[in-house]
Amino acid sequence: MHPLAKLDRQYVWHPFTQMRDWLAREPIVIAEGEGAVLRDARGREYLDANSSIWTNLHGHNHPKINSAIQRQLKKIAHTSALGLANEPASLLAKRLVEAANPWPATRDPQLTKVFFSDDGSTALEVALKLAYEFTRRTRGTPAGRVSSRATQPRFLSLDGAYHGDTVGAVALGHVDLFHKAYAGLLFKTDKVMSPYCYRCPFNRAKPERADARDYRKCNWECVGQVEETFSTQRKSGNRYAAFVFEPAIQGAAGMIPQPETWLKRVSEIAHGHGALLIADEVMTGFGRTGIVAADVRRLISKRKAKLEPPHVGCYHGNLFACHHENVQPDFLCLAKGLTGGYLPMAATLTTQKVFNAFLGEYHEFKTFFHGHSYTGNQLGAAASLASLEILQSEKSIRDRQKLETVLRNKLKLLWQLSNVGDVRQVGLVAGIELVKDWRTRKPFDLRERAGIRVCEAMARRGVLTRPVGNVIVLMPPYCTTPAQLQKMISALREAVTICFR
Ligand code: PMP
Repeated sequence: MHPLAKLDRQYVWHPFTQMRDWLAREPIVIAEGEGAVLRDARGREYLDANSSIWTNLHGHNHPKINSAIQRQLKKIAHTSALGLANEPASLLAKRLVEAANPWPATRDPQLTKVFFSDDGSTALEVALKLAYEFTRRTRGTPAGRVSSRATQPRFLSLDGAYHGDTVGAVALGHVDLFHKAYAGLLFKTDKVMSPYCYRCPFNRAKPERADARDYRKCNWECVGQVEETFSTQRKSGNRYAAFVFEPAIQGAAGMIPQPETWLKRVSEIAHGHGALLIADEVMTGFGRTGIVAADVRRLISKRKAKLEPPHVGCYHGNLFACHHENVQPDFLCLAKGLTGGYLPMAATLTTQKVFNAFLGEYHEFKTFFHGHSYTGNQLGAAASLASLEILQSEKSIRDRQKLETVLRNKLKLLWQLSNVGDVRQVGLVAGIELVKDWRTRKPFDLRERAGIRVCEAMARRGVLTRPVGNVIVLMPPYCTTPAQLQKMISALREAVTICFR
């Protein structure tokens, strides 16, 4: 066994991992990487088919991000945001606000303030606490006075939701497998059905060899349930404080994509009932959910007409999934891809209205009493600025659009496999749901470890990814070549074939 593998086995406890299984074999020890390729300590190469758990955007060892970090490192690595400002964090906040408001400044809500933290879970914790306190302050329960249980701000999220592992974020989630054990630690939140067309009890269509969103037969019962849930809560006299959701596609819930217009419809319902919208774009942010062709045309015509403001040199549209449906949340939670997948950093964007509710005289203690030691870290902010610049370049936009098309075409091959029940793609995210037989949609029992077995077989073929339950995730870095994408699909095909022979 490689000495580093031995060390790992002796000392490290891995996340979301049954350590008995882990200890039964030699782990892959990653030593280096370049683009979509990872190399282990023995020199073997693998493709990073899930972008290092959905974080990496432009590939590993990217020269622009590397040199941005190196430049910053020569100045300083970190100082506290408690009492001090710094250059890269201030510049990044401005760039994030520009990117998060692709519309005219007259449109409401505008996201004008950025609260930095460390990872996806903390980005959600921040939104949760801000929404809670904002609601208490604006709905008549004075700050400092504890509201009665009946009038405490309540939150609604989607069935199967996953918003992170810190206790507040867990309370917003509804994955029984992960969250049940901690029920005693959590505050109560409500859930509403998510639009899981493939397994929707209201979808009357028989299975076809196509994305279930395209052939579903329903009457938007999922939207009806959202309206009903909000109305019922309103009647209780305590309207929901906020509706929390992943836009376009729910990730850890099983790569569940939303049919077109669902997000627009439910957002209007939530806003109509006076709830704030908390968009968790930890996975979907920074171009993951694709490019809208009309936006590329707009970009090109803008460039031709030289209409771009001089500071831009880049394009703001398309970075966030909400904006594909013209939805603007009151909180936008970002992490994972923010630094291009280099460093742990997160941001929660919100509105001036929320910000203002925390202003006051010192002695009123309206301060937002929340923060982390590494908030606004300079190295992370420098990496993020470089990543945003790459992301908003014309080349990146064109490359991503091409990669999305190649992925769409290559995924078609998977419909030939009878253990593939659904193939769903949103931009550069694909979920392939494994079933016993596509005609019946019969799922594998989780104990059969179908997803894990397929991913292990893919790893033996030089392709690394992790499943969510019975769903195999393909989420390639944006620099992935068509040949590399082909290798990912071939490995998946072979793995499914040998695992269920
Ligand atoms: N929200 C979503 C949608 C996520 O996918 C994740 C992580 N998979 C999180 C929040 C939590 O992020 P982190 O692991 O960085 O805390």
